[in-house]
Amino acid sequence: MNTSTSASTSKTEPKADSKSESKTGSVTEAAYKIDSHTQKLVDEIKQLSKKRNAVILAHNYQIPIIQDIADFVGDSLGLSQQAAKTSAETIVFCGVHFMAETAAILCPTKRVLIPDLEAGCSLAESIDLAGLVAWKAEHPNAVVVSYVNTTAEIKALSDYCCTSGNALKIVQSIPEDKEILFLPDQFLGSWVQKMTGRKNMHIWMGECHVHAAVHPSKIDEKMKEHPDAELLIHPECGCLTPYLDRVARNAPDSKDVLKVASTEGMLKLATTSSAKKFVVATEVGILHRLKKENPEKEFLPISSEMSCQFMKMITLEKLHRSLVEDVFHVTVPEETASKARLAIERMISIF
Ligand code: SF4
Repeated sequence: MNTSTSASTSKTEPKADSKSESKTGSVTEAAYKIDSHTQKLVDEIKQLSKKRNAVILAHNYQIPIIQDIADFVGDSLGLSQQAAKTSAETIVFCGVHFMAETAAILCPTKRVLIPDLEAGCSLAESIDLAGLVAWKAEHPNAVVVSYVNTTAEIKALSDYCCTSGNALKIVQSIPEDKEILFLPDQFLGSWVQKMTGRKNMHIWMGECHVHAAVHPSKIDEKMKEHPDAELLIHPECGCLTPYLDRVARNAPDSKDVLKVASTEGMLKLATTSSAKKFVVATEVGILHRLKKENPEKEFLPISSEMSCQFMKMITLEKLHRSLVEDVFHVTVPEETASKARLAIERMISIF
């Protein structure tokens, strides 16, 4: 089994006309059409962005047209890095709220906008401040490692943030004798625990509703249909640890076609692998970039239902409105931000 820890972003160029489904049912091309209304919006967004000295950042799970119009597309870590180093005055974050908060924490002097304030995250919502305070009180000497999918308040009470790309390295960097509280994703936590063999690691039982819904039988089914494919699987997936156990028990040879990776890791693996076909177990938005960067290869979603309704709340119209009306500002009080910044900067530095 391989893992990937890469983080990067892609500079994108808008692309016209496309289809959403191939014959095999995989989402292989941009799922939108450029009609005159869309083109007008695209043109105005570009002009407004320039006029406002703004940078548009889009997560890998955004709808294709948002990815194509963005200045940078990437995972949470890559976008945080872009936010930290941009010289733009305004950051328009096409992603979910905690990501825009992270940008606001890293760039306190910049204006951070999100096109829809309701774009939340079920995983970030799975732990609240009172829950973490009580957990810390039970383990007063523990080091708190928070997945980046958390609110600013949770980050402020954490020692480290991590992404799926560097969670392993961060846990490995903590002295063996230190207890760890890992939150909020139980599946990422159990995968890290399995890979490190760490006994003194406590895991919060949170989950992302999109990734939790994948059952190992779905993987069996898909891999049976496509025995020549490699499997790219995100560590947030609920099926990961049971599937790894089954593979180890029943088909240890098949571990070579199984790659556990963050979304940026998947993009790197797809490019460097000699395989021509991939089954992808994560949110379907990633298929757009996978296909765009590897047009000669085939990418099949493990399930077309793995779509995050929060990510999909960001539309071209809302992005346009965000730039026209200068909405919606995302700010974090400096007292919270200064504490959270330490944990985020550790995340960015350990790679
Ligand atoms: S896919 Fe899951 S973790 Fe990602 S934003 Fe949506 S709910 Fe949150």
